[in-house]
Amino acid sequence: MPLTIPTHLLPTDGRFGSGPSKVRPGQVDHLVANAHVLGTSHRKAPVKDLVRRIREGVTELLGAPDGYEVTLGNGGATAFWDVATLCLVERKAQHASFGEFGGKFATATSRAPFLDPSQVITAEPGAVAYLEPADDVDTYATPHNETSTGAMAPVLRPSGPDGAIVLTDATSGAGALPVDLRQTDAYYFSPQKAFAADGGLWLAVLSPAAVERAARIEASGRWVPEFLSLTTAITNSRLDQTLNTPAVATLLLLADQVEWLLAQGGLKWSAERCATSAEILYGWAEKRPWATPFVARPEERSTVVGTIDLADEIDAGRVLSELRANGVQDVFAYRKLGRNQLRVGMFPAVEPDDVAALTECVDYLVERI
Ligand SMILES: *Cc1c(COP(=O)(O)O)cnc(C)c1O
Repeated sequence: MPLTIPTHLLPTDGRFGSGPSKVRPGQVDHLVANAHVLGTSHRKAPVKDLVRRIREGVTELLGAPDGYEVTLGNGGATAFWDVATLCLVERKAQHASFGEFGGKFATATSRAPFLDPSQVITAEPGAVAYLEPADDVDTYATPHNETSTGAMAPVLRPSGPDGAIVLTDATSGAGALPVDLRQTDAYYFSPQKAFAADGGLWLAVLSPAAVERAARIEASGRWVPEFLSLTTAITNSRLDQTLNTPAVATLLLLADQVEWLLAQGGLKWSAERCATSAEILYGWAEKRPWATPFVARPEERSTVVGTIDLADEIDAGRVLSELRANGVQDVFAYRKLGRNQLRVGMFPAVEPDDVAALTECVDYLVERI
């Protein structure tokens, strides 16, 4: 028999996934109110206006400096790793790798036959690996927030020789973590995390140096499939289009979330709201003898994806299935990490009060399991 958590302890919304993440009801209302745009051409004004709203909104929300431009294409952040490998790394990349996602991009550049072997700086899961100035690399790459472990790193350009560019995987950080985009040249993300939309797209805020780098590499004769060409994506984005057909429903969900974040107070508001949720979660864990924040250094604990280890005598799998039976979903650890752990998405769409309610639900279950 599953345990029944009393209704007054339950969160108002039980979606705490780390991506896909909770979609706000207001976004779904926006989708319904604009249903007439669905099923219309992505080369005509209604959909192009939507792409323009997204590009302008992201520019404002993230405080993009003059000259930076918002580009987008199909395929998600995973596709952007291949785009970047082909169009942004000139000879050699340096990667900070401290989890699954940072590791996957490092593998992508390391396997590219036209590049020198990548320099990969690693850290144990739960810690952060930091970029280091190096004379022989032309591209630095790091996650902003490592979704698989719940560790975050500030966006900082390594000092050192001019001309190197910085690529930041902001898939789970963009829109929720503070950033100064002058510290990076490509700040890229998918919309199904802090932007609470569906997956399938990538967006990248590119500096003039990144745009110039792509133009030069693609003109140099390196073979780049059209689908993975950054210059092609830039050309299309400037026209408020994508190379091939996008999911229009995703664009509607994304546009509404960007405008909602701006209306609430922008990135500062969003970052503070996520930090409040994180304080609730980590503060709770620190007061329980059977729960420990997985990330040891407090300043590296993500304010958007919180990971909490449970003591061995408490089976996280059992807690997860009891939570799910009560409508509280997706707080499982990243599968390859294989820890006795809860992982909680605390993106801006999630109410801090709901994070507090989640902790009360876990207390209730742990007392009874
Ligand atoms: C989710 C995630 C990805 C992969 O995004 P897709 O849209 O599934 O390609 C990459 N990097 C980070 C940091 C992520 O959180």
